[in-house]
Amino acid sequence: MTDVAAQNPLRLFNSLTRSLEVFEPVHAGEARVYSCGPTVYNYPHIGNMRAYVFADVLGRTLSWKGYALTHVINITDVGHLTDDADAGEDKMEKMAAERAQSIWDIADHYKQAYWADVRALNIRQPAQWTVATDYVEQMIEFAKGIAEKHCYELESGLYFDVSTVADYGRLARAQTEDGEGRIEAVEGKRNAADFAIWRKTPPGESRQMEWDSPWGRGAPGWHLECSVMSGEVLGFPFDIHTGGIDHREIHHPNEIAQNQAHCCTNGLDDPRNSGARIWMHNNFLVERSGKMSKSSGEFLRLQLLIDRGYHPVAYRLMCLQAHYRSELEFSWEGLGAALTRLKRMVMGVETLKARHAELVSASSAPKASVFEEAWTLKQVQGDEWGKLQPALDKFDAAIADDLNTAVALTAFDDVLAVKKVDAIKKAELAAAMDAVLGLNLLNLTRADLRIRPKSARLTEAEIEAALARRKEARAAKDFAASDAIRDELAGQGVEVMDGDPLGWEWKLS
Ligand code: AMP
Ligand code: ZN
Repeated sequence: MTDVAAQNPLRLFNSLTRSLEVFEPVHAGEARVYSCGPTVYNYPHIGNMRAYVFADVLGRTLSWKGYALTHVINITDVGHLTDDADAGEDKMEKMAAERAQSIWDIADHYKQAYWADVRALNIRQPAQWTVATDYVEQMIEFAKGIAEKHCYELESGLYFDVSTVADYGRLARAQTEDGEGRIEAVEGKRNAADFAIWRKTPPGESRQMEWDSPWGRGAPGWHLECSVMSGEVLGFPFDIHTGGIDHREIHHPNEIAQNQAHCCTNGLDDPRNSGARIWMHNNFLVERSGKMSKSSGEFLRLQLLIDRGYHPVAYRLMCLQAHYRSELEFSWEGLGAALTRLKRMVMGVETLKARHAELVSASSAPKASVFEEAWTLKQVQGDEWGKLQPALDKFDAAIADDLNTAVALTAFDDVLAVKKVDAIKKAELAAAMDAVLGLNLLNLTRADLRIRPKSARLTEAEIEAALARRKEARAAKDFAASDAIRDELAGQGVEVMDGDPLGWEWKLS
């Protein structure tokens, strides 16, 4: 055994320093991670879910490297305005008014929908989901602590003066005219980038969600929520804060300013003063026709992909094929290609599983739990891998290199391709790698992947029966009948694939 894997310290790209840094935990042996969660006023689109696939792979990688992980994801059910700055309505209030429903019902419905997507994408449960409305008291306390030195009051609320902290906006890098232009003017603000900590309910109005505070009845600002929940649960400074790249521009610089005011004050040359040592951002999933926007009629929800016959894990694989810091363009062709690749992987593992089961039943010391273990690098390093060792080394080097999942996936393929090697070892290594990739390959079956599009009219049994008739016709050399059945199926959206190397025989188009 070589110990190449041990030589790959985990390096992550810190948006704050714009450089790759070796991960050094704040608390020995631990990793504490906070991810900005969804605003639950509507269904998440698949772009939003890319952010959580990324955070999940990060968490799994930290576990692989042996750190005891505490991951927190918040649920924003108050405070996020229709504009990232301070103008506009609260997204939750607006949706509740449009639907004539209570905010609490809206929040609960979309929180459940988000969690369903989390499960479908095989994203691990974090240690804690923090819900913003459960932390309002702590938010008021936090705001009280920084109000005197860092805030000022206007008629519309309490505002944070960004000139009171060092290096404001370093994370965004671009305090350009353009950047500031995006922030809508609120009369009386001292600096264009100042933001609301507490938003007072305008006189004569009431909101469904409002609380008393020293600055009047109202609701907390969105940025305040994440500072409070991350600090409360993980303690400042914690290790890693994640979010989509849009958060690098306003939300996270504002969180950092609050964190500095609350605990650190000093400049950001020492990244710990930002409240988290490393700030990581996934790039966007983009779609040319604008279907990623929640305001478009048929926006890209995970359920839409499933309705069209794509297994949700194919979308996870599509995300993993790109680096999280690269923009990823969504296309149905790309998703189809990912599904085909997933099918190949599932078939490769199925063969292995069957062989493994045979060996286990023949062995006196069965290792039956191989597929259920949460593997760590330490566990696999303590073993002899022989011909499989290069694949393990490649896998660890890739994943340690700022989560290069695209290359890590090819290392997984390498494992499946190694010939004449102990099937038990091969199965163990495949299981260990999938503990990081999270494709659930050891449980998925071919049947799971054959999802029927919602629009499909024929049942699977009817398709199989037609194919059996076609087989008989072909055996009897009645090619006219065989072609007729084939055309009939094509008319129903079922493509017959004679000699399909994947053995899938038919496909729904
Ligand atoms: P929201 O519910 O709008 O607060 O967004 C939830 C998460 O999704 C945040 O981390 C966003 O930065 C992220 N996000 C939003 N749009 C996209 C996209 N198109 N691709 C990837 N991540 C996104
Ligand atoms: Zn946040």
